Amino acid sequence: MKNFDFDLFTLGAGSGGVRATRLAGESGARVAIAEESRIGGTCVIRGCVPKKHFVYAAEFAQSFADAAGYGWSVEWARFDWSKLRDNIQEEVGRLSDIYRANMEKANVAIFEERAIIEGPHTVRLLATNRTVTAERILVAAGGRPIALSGVKGAEYAITSDEAFLLDALPSQVLVLGGGYIAVEFATIFHGLGVETTLLYRGETILRGFDSDVRHHVQSNLKRIGVNIVTGAVVSEIGPIADGSSETYQVRLSNGMTLETGLIMAAIGRRPHTTGLGLETAGVRLKENGAIPVDAYSRTECPSIWAVGDVTDRINLTPIAIREGHAFADTEFRGRPSKVDHRDVPTAVFGRPPIGAVGFTEADARVQFGPVDIYKSTFRPMKHVVAGNDERTLMKIVVRASDDHVVGVHIAGADAPEMIQLAAIAVKAGITKRQWDETVALHPTAAEELVLMREKSQ
Ligand code: FAD
Repeated sequence: MKNFDFDLFTLGAGSGGVRATRLAGESGARVAIAEESRIGGTCVIRGCVPKKHFVYAAEFAQSFADAAGYGWSVEWARFDWSKLRDNIQEEVGRLSDIYRANMEKANVAIFEERAIIEGPHTVRLLATNRTVTAERILVAAGGRPIALSGVKGAEYAITSDEAFLLDALPSQVLVLGGGYIAVEFATIFHGLGVETTLLYRGETILRGFDSDVRHHVQSNLKRIGVNIVTGAVVSEIGPIADGSSETYQVRLSNGMTLETGLIMAAIGRRPHTTGLGLETAGVRLKENGAIPVDAYSRTECPSIWAVGDVTDRINLTPIAIREGHAFADTEFRGRPSKVDHRDVPTAVFGRPPIGAVGFTEADARVQFGPVDIYKSTFRPMKHVVAGNDERTLMKIVVRASDDHVVGVHIAGADAPEMIQLAAIAVKAGITKRQWDETVALHPTAAEELVLMREKSQ
């Protein structure tokens, strides 16, 4: 047997890399990890965690408005961006430290620099120009936002990475894109009092989600005052010099022109594989840069594995964690395991938020043929006295052939919290009949989920 410096070397200390490396270390293996940015990766540093705190901050605006209907007077509410930004950064730092401490406890050697692959068992650490060898290499390098390109002035557009650290909130923002990150940031900016435009090249935002949910959220965002422009893209950005603040004039492909203080592109993400050196180990990439892997996260090279966003399977933190966990179980803990990528619950923290699990109606029809649809829209109890017109949509997709619930879609207050529990039932293979046997919990919004008895036409 050859002598390697490590049993495992991981590239990237994000959700997937940290889980895999920590577990391998705890099992007694000699393990190392390289991180070119901050320990914790996208989710902790510039994704789920700071984003969710922004969402909480933005929700207060509606809560203050709702409070009036319940007798509260809240004229004093004032928002301080730098306080929010700095408090969240403090929390992000705390979590990053916990990740580090947990890895140190598991005897993980941490290299805080970029690493690239130089062969099936060889990694080069770029800042210190060292070469190390490992029996196994795990690539957990995550993804990067795609920057706006191909139009004049594209360099003025930021991405979600920078949005967390703005010096000041602009009075107007233009968010480009219609995916979940675009919708969440449009919701956040709007909630924090910024005049917000969402520009999407398609007609209905949130491609991939159930059609009813997409329309529900799009019309509600418009109702609350987000300016949604569809069927157009940016064709030119030019700065306007107005002395004190930065302002941009943006020309759109539909002939419209608008002025804004900030342009944020949320037009997709790409696996972070450029310049990673995978070709030196014979690993070919997909066209979008993703690393092809099998069910055990093995690449074409027998000593190299890849987990998380870098493989572009389902780009969510719990999936990256599970894939990293399954890799460690298989390779270091004597428990071969694969990740089941079916029935993964997802959320969009927009207005209203979405929670979804399983098949959309359209996908279920393609996959299974006839389906029964149960649908309800209503104004949640809390909104009635508050005078808040936001409605909740609930939808259940049932496979007609055997009565199995194959999809649940909710757009409304607390939808992500509800869907986590609904996902247990869907994953367990519940039938609609069993679902209906569940007694309602009154008075909640969630009770409507078990009270939908009439098929919708
Ligand atoms: P990452 O967490 O991206 O970690 C990869 C790490 O590798 C990074 O720290 C990077 O710096 C490092 N790295 C890359 N290349 C090298 C190299 N060559 N050498 C050394 N280090 C390297 N998911 C959810 O489940 N829920 C959400 O609500 C959610 N919200 C999100 C919001 C935003 C704005 C974004 C951008 C993402 C969000 N995600 C969310 C997705 C989630 O963050 C990712 O799916 C998850 O972080 C993927 O984990 P990973 O381990 O694959 O990669």
